[in-house]
Amino acid sequence: MARILVVEDNPANMRLAALVLEKAGHQVLQAYEAESGLQAARTDRPELILMDIQLPGMDGLTATRLLKADPQTADIRIIALTAFAMKGDEEKMRAAGCDGYVAKPIRYKELISAIDQLLNGRSPPAEAPPQTP
Ligand code: MN
Repeated sequence: MARILVVEDNPANMRLAALVLEKAGHQVLQAYEAESGLQAARTDRPELILMDIQLPGMDGLTATRLLKADPQTADIRIIALTAFAMKGDEEKMRAAGCDGYVAKPIRYKELISAIDQLLNGRSPPAEAPPQTP
């Protein structure tokens, strides 16, 4: 069980994400735009963030870059929520520092398994340096 921040401007998507996460036993924090999401990440220290890419004002990729550049929040895992899951976009999301992504519409199994994978530490943090033998 983890504390998870959802940054999503669409109320229906926010409700769905919160329902799925709570059903899986997680604690949910909500922000409807990037600026309040950044603030919540610093003050509430979630273990993971679900970040919508298309947000009013600052977009989710910019917010992700800021979170990963700030030592206070760099260790928080970020899963991008995107309506346009295409190959070029995945590269853009990785480059911004996203640890994973889930395509909308949100599906229960897909979202929960993406979260479990990151929280169980099966993939190293994006900012980790490569291991030297
Ligand atoms: Mn949106």
